[in-house]
Amino acid sequence: MEKWARIDFDLCDPIRCDGKKGRCPAVRRCTHKLLEQESPYEPPMLLSKRMCVGCGDCVTACPCGAIVISIG
Ligand code: SF4
Ligand code: SF4
Repeated sequence: MEKWARIDFDLCDPIRCDGKKGRCPAVRRCTHKLLEQESPYEPPMLLSKRMCVGCGDCVTACPCGAIVISIG
């Protein structure tokens, strides 16, 4: 079964994470470089569900509980 990071766009609030620059800390935390923000203050996107290892590092980096590990 696949494990992957799912972003809840209703909970994501980049201003709360980084009010000055709008950078998502979860993007920096993913050592596999699978999260990307198109621009500051935008929610991140998972670039590849298949390549995500479901490690959960991005989950712990997110202060808003906006990333969960989905299984299946
Ligand atoms: S679960 Fe791990 S590999 Fe997947 S996006 Fe989050 S930090 Fe990256
Ligand atoms: S850390 Fe969480 S709440 Fe903050 S921008 Fe990233 S996904 Fe959104």
